[in-house]
Amino acid sequence: MRAPVAEQQALLERQVVDSAIDRLRHRRANLPEDGRLAELRTSRAAIDQLSAERDGTLLTTRREQERLEHDIDNLGRKAAAEEARAAAGRVTSPKELTAIQAEVQGLRRRIATLEDELIERMETRETLEAELADLAGRAQVAEGERAEVTLARDAALAEIDKDLAARRAERAAVAPRVGEALGRLYDQIRARSGGVGVAALEGDTCQGCRVSISPVELRKLRELPPDEVRRCENCRRIMVLV
Ligand SMILES: [Zn+2]
Repeated sequence: MRAPVAEQQALLERQVVDSAIDRLRHRRANLPEDGRLAELRTSRAAIDQLSAERDGTLLTTRREQERLEHDIDNLGRKAAAEEARAAAGRVTSPKELTAIQAEVQGLRRRIATLEDELIERMETRETLEAELADLAGRAQVAEGERAEVTLARDAALAEIDKDLAARRAERAAVAPRVGEALGRLYDQIRARSGGVGVAALEGDTCQGCRVSISPVELRKLRELPPDEVRRCENCRRIMVLV
Protein backbone atom coordinates (compact mmCIF):
# COMPACT_ATOMS: atom_id res chain seq x y z
CA MET A 1 0.00 0.00 0.00
CA ARG A 2 1.12 3.50 -0.75
CA ALA A 3 0.24 6.70 1.07
CA PRO A 4 1.85 10.15 0.99
CA VAL A 5 4.40 10.78 3.76
CA ALA A 6 2.21 13.60 5.13
CA GLU A 7 -0.64 11.12 5.54
CA GLN A 8 1.65 8.69 7.38
CA GLN A 9 2.79 11.48 9.71
CA ALA A 10 -0.85 12.48 10.29
CA LEU A 11 -1.59 8.85 11.17
CA LEU A 12 1.03 9.02 13.94
CA GLU A 13 -0.74 12.13 15.29
CA ARG A 14 -4.06 10.33 15.10
CA GLN A 15 -2.59 7.43 17.08
CA VAL A 16 -1.54 9.79 19.87
CA VAL A 17 -5.06 11.23 20.04
CA ASP A 18 -6.75 7.81 19.81
CA SER A 19 -4.54 6.43 22.61
CA ALA A 20 -5.38 9.45 24.77
CA ILE A 21 -9.10 8.88 24.11
CA ASP A 22 -8.71 5.16 24.95
CA ARG A 23 -7.00 6.01 28.24
CA LEU A 24 -9.71 8.53 29.14
CA ARG A 25 -12.48 6.07 28.33
CA HIS A 26 -10.75 3.39 30.39
CA ARG A 27 -10.43 5.79 33.31
CA ARG A 28 -14.07 6.80 32.90
CA ALA A 29 -15.19 3.14 33.06
CA ASN A 30 -12.93 2.30 36.04
CA LEU A 31 -13.29 5.21 38.43
CA PRO A 32 -12.29 4.23 41.99
CA GLU A 33 -15.30 6.28 43.15
CA ASP A 34 -17.62 3.92 41.26
CA GLY A 35 -15.95 0.96 42.99
CA ARG A 36 -16.47 2.61 46.38
CA LEU A 37 -20.11 3.40 45.55
CA ALA A 38 -20.70 -0.26 44.72
CA GLU A 39 -19.18 -1.25 48.09
CA LEU A 40 -21.37 1.29 49.86
CA ARG A 41 -24.48 -0.03 48.10
CA THR A 42 -23.62 -3.56 49.27
CA SER A 43 -23.02 -2.50 52.86
CA ARG A 44 -26.16 -0.34 52.85
CA ALA A 45 -28.22 -3.31 51.63
CA ALA A 46 -26.80 -5.43 54.48
CA ILE A 47 -27.64 -2.71 57.02
CA ASP A 48 -31.19 -2.37 55.64
CA GLN A 49 -31.73 -6.12 55.76
CA LEU A 50 -30.52 -6.34 59.37
CA SER A 51 -32.73 -3.38 60.30
CA ALA A 52 -35.76 -5.02 58.73
CA GLU A 53 -35.06 -8.24 60.66
CA ARG A 54 -34.61 -6.36 63.95
CA ASP A 55 -37.76 -4.33 63.26
CA GLY A 56 -39.72 -7.54 62.78
CA THR A 57 -38.40 -9.02 66.04
CA LEU A 58 -39.09 -5.74 67.85
CA LEU A 59 -42.70 -5.75 66.66
CA THR A 60 -43.19 -9.33 67.91
CA THR A 61 -41.55 -8.48 71.24
CA ARG A 62 -43.80 -5.42 71.68
CA ARG A 63 -46.89 -7.54 71.05
CA GLU A 64 -45.70 -10.16 73.55
CA GLN A 65 -45.01 -7.42 76.07
CA GLU A 66 -48.53 -6.01 75.63
CA ARG A 67 -50.07 -9.49 75.91
CA LEU A 68 -48.11 -10.16 79.14
CA GLU A 69 -49.11 -6.78 80.62
CA HIS A 70 -52.72 -7.51 79.73
CA ASP A 71 -52.58 -11.02 81.27
CA ILE A 72 -50.85 -9.75 84.44
CA ASP A 73 -53.54 -7.08 84.74
CA ASN A 74 -56.38 -9.61 84.40
CA LEU A 75 -54.87 -12.08 86.84
CA GLY A 76 -54.17 -9.25 89.31
CA ARG A 77 -57.79 -8.12 89.15
CA LYS A 78 -58.99 -11.68 89.56
CA ALA A 79 -56.75 -12.20 92.64
CA ALA A 80 -57.91 -8.88 94.11
CA ALA A 81 -61.57 -9.84 93.58
CA GLU A 82 -61.03 -13.19 95.30
CA GLU A 83 -59.24 -11.52 98.20
CA ALA A 84 -62.07 -8.97 98.50
CA ARG A 85 -64.62 -11.80 98.49
CA ALA A 86 -62.77 -13.55 101.34
CA ALA A 87 -62.38 -10.30 103.28
CA ALA A 88 -66.06 -9.32 102.87
CA GLY A 89 -67.02 -11.88 105.46
CA ARG A 90 -69.82 -13.50 103.44
CA VAL A 91 -67.78 -16.68 102.99
CA THR A 92 -67.96 -18.46 106.31
CA SER A 93 -66.96 -21.99 105.46
CA PRO A 94 -63.31 -22.52 106.48
CA LYS A 95 -62.94 -25.01 103.65
CA GLU A 96 -64.09 -22.47 101.12
CA LEU A 97 -61.83 -19.80 102.65
CA THR A 98 -58.84 -22.13 102.34
CA ALA A 99 -59.80 -22.82 98.73
CA ILE A 100 -59.93 -19.07 98.01
CA GLN A 101 -56.54 -18.55 99.66
CA ALA A 102 -55.07 -21.38 97.57
CA GLU A 103 -56.50 -19.87 94.39
CA VAL A 104 -55.13 -16.42 95.24
CA GLN A 105 -51.72 -17.94 95.92
CA GLY A 106 -51.87 -19.77 92.60
CA LEU A 107 -52.80 -16.53 90.82
CA ARG A 108 -49.94 -14.64 92.50
CA ARG A 109 -47.47 -17.36 91.43
CA ARG A 110 -48.71 -17.15 87.81
CA ILE A 111 -48.38 -13.36 87.97
CA ALA A 112 -44.79 -13.66 89.27
CA THR A 113 -43.89 -16.00 86.39
CA LEU A 114 -45.48 -13.68 83.84
CA GLU A 115 -43.68 -10.71 85.38
CA ASP A 116 -40.35 -12.51 84.92
CA GLU A 117 -41.27 -13.09 81.27
CA LEU A 118 -42.26 -9.44 80.97
CA ILE A 119 -38.87 -8.27 82.28
CA GLU A 120 -37.19 -10.57 79.79
CA ARG A 121 -39.22 -9.04 76.91
CA MET A 122 -38.41 -5.53 78.09
CA GLU A 123 -34.70 -6.35 78.13
CA THR A 124 -34.94 -7.86 74.65
CA ARG A 125 -36.75 -4.75 73.50
CA GLU A 126 -34.05 -2.48 74.90
CA THR A 127 -31.34 -4.53 73.18
CA LEU A 128 -33.23 -4.43 69.87
CA GLU A 129 -33.81 -0.69 70.13
CA ALA A 130 -30.11 -0.11 70.82
CA GLU A 131 -29.16 -2.29 67.84
CA LEU A 132 -31.62 -0.44 65.61
CA ALA A 133 -30.21 2.91 66.73
CA ASP A 134 -26.70 1.64 65.95
CA LEU A 135 -27.83 0.41 62.51
CA ALA A 136 -29.52 3.75 61.82
CA GLY A 137 -26.25 5.49 62.73
CA ARG A 138 -24.29 3.25 60.40
CA ALA A 139 -26.82 3.86 57.61
CA GLN A 140 -26.43 7.60 58.14
CA VAL A 141 -22.62 7.39 57.95
CA ALA A 142 -22.85 5.28 54.78
CA GLU A 143 -25.33 7.75 53.30
CA GLY A 144 -23.00 10.66 54.09
CA GLU A 145 -20.08 8.93 52.44
CA ARG A 146 -22.26 7.99 49.45
CA ALA A 147 -23.19 11.64 48.91
CA GLU A 148 -19.55 12.69 49.25
CA VAL A 149 -18.21 10.00 46.90
CA THR A 150 -20.99 10.74 44.39
CA LEU A 151 -19.88 14.37 44.29
CA ALA A 152 -16.25 13.34 43.77
CA ARG A 153 -17.30 10.84 41.09
CA ASP A 154 -19.36 13.46 39.24
CA ALA A 155 -16.46 15.92 39.40
CA ALA A 156 -14.07 13.26 38.03
CA LEU A 157 -16.56 12.43 35.24
CA ALA A 158 -16.96 16.09 34.31
CA GLU A 159 -13.17 16.50 34.15
CA ILE A 160 -12.75 13.39 31.99
CA ASP A 161 -15.63 14.40 29.71
CA LYS A 162 -14.05 17.81 29.21
CA ASP A 163 -10.75 16.14 28.22
CA LEU A 164 -12.60 13.68 26.00
CA ALA A 165 -14.40 16.48 24.18
CA ALA A 166 -11.08 18.25 23.57
CA ARG A 167 -9.43 15.05 22.32
CA ARG A 168 -12.39 14.24 20.05
CA ALA A 169 -12.10 17.70 18.53
CA GLU A 170 -8.40 17.01 17.93
CA ARG A 171 -9.26 13.72 16.28
CA ALA A 172 -11.87 15.38 14.09
CA ALA A 173 -9.15 17.81 12.98
CA VAL A 174 -6.55 15.15 12.22
CA ALA A 175 -8.84 12.46 10.75
CA PRO A 176 -9.39 14.15 7.33
CA ARG A 177 -5.62 14.28 6.83
CA VAL A 178 -5.48 10.47 6.72
CA GLY A 179 -6.71 8.76 3.54
CA GLU A 180 -9.56 6.30 3.72
CA ALA A 181 -7.53 3.19 2.80
CA LEU A 182 -4.72 3.94 5.26
CA GLY A 183 -7.28 4.82 7.96
CA ARG A 184 -9.08 1.53 7.44
CA LEU A 185 -5.86 -0.50 7.65
CA TYR A 186 -4.91 1.40 10.79
CA ASP A 187 -8.32 0.70 12.37
CA GLN A 188 -8.04 -3.03 11.62
CA ILE A 189 -4.55 -3.31 13.13
CA ARG A 190 -5.53 -1.13 16.09
CA ALA A 191 -8.50 -3.40 16.85
CA ARG A 192 -6.34 -6.51 17.13
CA SER A 193 -3.14 -4.94 18.54
CA GLY A 194 -4.18 -3.41 21.85
CA GLY A 195 -5.25 -0.09 20.40
CA VAL A 196 -1.96 0.68 18.66
CA GLY A 197 -2.14 0.51 14.85
CA VAL A 198 0.84 2.64 13.92
CA ALA A 199 4.22 3.21 15.51
CA ALA A 200 7.32 5.19 14.77
CA LEU A 201 10.57 3.52 13.84
CA GLU A 202 13.12 5.19 16.08
CA GLY A 203 16.71 4.13 15.45
CA ASP A 204 16.32 0.39 14.89
CA THR A 205 13.40 -0.07 17.29
CA CYS A 206 9.68 -0.32 16.48
CA GLN A 207 7.94 1.83 19.10
CA GLY A 208 4.86 -0.42 18.83
CA CYS A 209 6.46 -3.65 20.06
CA ARG A 210 9.88 -2.31 21.22
CA VAL A 211 11.66 -4.98 19.23
CA SER A 212 14.84 -4.15 17.30
CA ILE A 213 14.62 -4.60 13.57
CA SER A 214 17.39 -6.71 12.01
CA PRO A 215 20.01 -4.71 10.04
CA VAL A 216 19.02 -6.43 6.79
CA GLU A 217 15.32 -5.62 7.27
CA LEU A 218 16.21 -2.10 8.41
CA ARG A 219 18.13 -1.43 5.19
CA LYS A 220 15.21 -2.78 3.16
CA LEU A 221 12.77 -0.51 5.02
CA ARG A 222 14.91 2.57 4.48
CA GLU A 223 15.35 1.86 0.78
CA LEU A 224 11.60 1.59 0.11
CA PRO A 225 10.06 4.60 -1.66
CA PRO A 226 8.94 7.19 0.95
CA ASP A 227 5.23 6.73 0.18
CA GLU A 228 5.39 2.95 0.62
CA VAL A 229 3.54 2.00 3.79
CA ARG A 230 5.96 0.04 5.95
CA ARG A 231 5.00 -2.70 8.39
CA CYS A 232 6.91 -3.98 11.41
CA GLU A 233 8.23 -7.50 10.70
CA ASN A 234 7.56 -8.42 14.32
CA CYS A 235 4.19 -6.90 15.30
CA ARG A 236 2.84 -6.14 11.79
CA ARG A 237 1.87 -2.62 12.82
CA ILE A 238 2.22 0.23 10.36
CA MET A 239 5.64 1.73 10.90
CA VAL A 240 6.51 5.32 10.10
CA LEU A 241 10.10 6.53 9.72
CA VAL A 242 10.90 9.56 11.84
ZN1 LIG B 1 6.65 -3.73 15.93
